[in-house]
Amino acid sequence: MTQIEKLLEDISGYHPSADLGLVRRAYQFAADAHAGQTRKSGDPYVTHPLSVARIIAELKLDVSSVCAALLHDAVEDTSATVEQLSDQFGKEVAFLVEGVTKLGKLPYSTREEQQAENFRKMLLAMARDIRVILVKLCDRLDNMRSLNHLPSEKQERIAAETMQIYAPLANRLGIQSVKIELEDLAFKYLHPGEYDQLATEVSKTRAERLEYIRHVEKLIEKEMGEGGVACQVSGRAKHLWSIYQKMRRTQRPFAEIHDAIGFRVVTDSQMFCYQALGIAHQTWTPIPGRFKDYIALPKPNRYQSLHTAVIGPRGERIEIQIRTRDMHMVAEHGIAAHWKYKEGKPTDAGDDNKFAWLRQLMESHRELRDPTEFLESVKIDLFGDEVYVFTPQGDVKALPQGSCPIDFAYTVHSSVGDHCSGARVNNMIVPLRYQLRNGDTVEILTNPNQKPNKDWLKLVKTARARNKIRYLLRQEQRDRGLALGADLMDKAMRKHGTTVEKSSKQLTAAAKDLRCATLDELTLQVGYGKITMQQVLERALPELSKKAEISAVEKSENILKNLLRKVTRKTSTSGIKVAGEHDILVRFGKCCSPLPGDPITGFITRGRGVTVHRRDCDKGLDLDPDRRIDVEWDGSSKTQHEVAIQVLCANKPGLLAHISQSFTDQGVNINQAHCRTADGDRAVNTFHASVKDLDQLKSVIRSLSRIKGVFSVDRVSADIS
Ligand code: MN
Repeated sequence: MTQIEKLLEDISGYHPSADLGLVRRAYQFAADAHAGQTRKSGDPYVTHPLSVARIIAELKLDVSSVCAALLHDAVEDTSATVEQLSDQFGKEVAFLVEGVTKLGKLPYSTREEQQAENFRKMLLAMARDIRVILVKLCDRLDNMRSLNHLPSEKQERIAAETMQIYAPLANRLGIQSVKIELEDLAFKYLHPGEYDQLATEVSKTRAERLEYIRHVEKLIEKEMGEGGVACQVSGRAKHLWSIYQKMRRTQRPFAEIHDAIGFRVVTDSQMFCYQALGIAHQTWTPIPGRFKDYIALPKPNRYQSLHTAVIGPRGERIEIQIRTRDMHMVAEHGIAAHWKYKEGKPTDAGDDNKFAWLRQLMESHRELRDPTEFLESVKIDLFGDEVYVFTPQGDVKALPQGSCPIDFAYTVHSSVGDHCSGARVNNMIVPLRYQLRNGDTVEILTNPNQKPNKDWLKLVKTARARNKIRYLLRQEQRDRGLALGADLMDKAMRKHGTTVEKSSKQLTAAAKDLRCATLDELTLQVGYGKITMQQVLERALPELSKKAEISAVEKSENILKNLLRKVTRKTSTSGIKVAGEHDILVRFGKCCSPLPGDPITGFITRGRGVTVHRRDCDKGLDLDPDRRIDVEWDGSSKTQHEVAIQVLCANKPGLLAHISQSFTDQGVNINQAHCRTADGDRAVNTFHASVKDLDQLKSVIRSLSRIKGVFSVDRVSADIS
């Protein structure tokens, strides 16, 4: 019987209504696609996907999984495409093959345990369908079985990866047979000397052991039965890797590893457990110090069992675990899932529940007649709340779903986060708002002049990034407060014929009086508007300030401070920075409609924030110089500004359409237009349009001027129409 026939027979054995024709076609497709390719062993390449498919069938998986196994290398290694597979074998098979292909491309280099754990999670998260992982595991198992044909440094790398990533994954998914074989194969290549020695020692006694296990199983059952305890007994020899680890842990040779054989007794009730223990201890001599009552004192992970070791029949030391059916369920599927107990590593409860759920599904499907119905429902979304990405060095970082490059930058180092100016993801430049995806390789671009701004707080998802950004923003706010306070204090002191330096003694005394520890603290409080200059002057210069009315400076200063307090939480929409602060309420003078690029100046208007005028605006010049405040354009703003443009042109048909087309060509919107004839053959048109800056306005004016029939184009005051 050929391999493919054996495969078909295996499938119909557990899935009588399976579409074997599809499997046959998948095999033929793979055989044709890989025609001419050979494995390192010299066998035709198609023997590999076929072996993988047979392992898949041993796990009793559905036809789509079997087909995906047959085709798993076709997209990566031949000219076949996912589209072809989709056409010929359906979307599902194509999806699975694509998934396996993607996983195969993830770069992995051996790292410490936390990295390995993140990498395992990344694989699970990227697979999206548990079958992708299962095919990948079977692929790996077949590769491990034929690893002897590869050069030794490759053997070592693949074995290390298998031990760190794939065996724990198999364990987590409850596929003990695959896990054990992967571990022993990896062991063989990672520690060849130790492996050979141990394998020889174990095999010498192998047949003997098996016979011994059966013998002891029967004996325990008989003793328990006579004692009135109903139970199931199962014995197993530990696999080589597990024995080897025990030898290393206890620093003992194989001959002294007592519990290389273990027995599990599962009873119906807790009372029976203690009875069974009593019977075991009466029948065989217990080894002192080996009895543990995890029923009365469960492990923190809720694992419950009685553990003991006795000198069993023929003087062999054996380990016995006794538990109820319920405890067995918890140990196998529950929060104390077996993998965790064995690995002895704490993980968080969230992960644990996810794996327990998965393990239960894996277990329950073994009892199903038709595995398809089960597997179709298992689209995994195990780690929907996390995303796993690579650093350029190949480390894996776990971040909350929806994280952006800034989050990533702060996990690298806080200075990288603080100066993060951009990012390259998979070698493409992306904006900072880009949402990271599983498997992305992220490289952060930094710029020493870059610093966090408030908008970053809207992008980031990690607490770490948020806290660092907030801290820096507070720091900056403090710096601004200090600068503003110093400025206000300086102006007020000069107004009274002195300076901060000359009156520093009086000011320091005033600071104490106002419950500020230092003069700096007072300056800051003035800057924040919590203490007014009036209060300071009353204390520092009582004789002068008594007669002085609240000066214009203070008036404007108070208004500004109120404004600062009122509007700091609003976002900047004006594109203007007032005294270095983004968030002041800003209006633009209708008289001159300033544009980014125009020299500007600001005036504090009572109750209406700051009005910005062009520096050469007549109206601006009329205003009280004491109310003037420094303003500047915020280069990063994308705000549109309305301007008025007057076009004098010939009064002839079609010209207006031409003019408006010219606006459109420059990417500028017309908000309003007023057109009238000035005299018989001339027309005056005023357009109100939105532009982003002076440069854009200039190019609009230039292009309008070039139109035949246009006599003049002028920027005019917006209230002329
Ligand atoms: Mn393969």
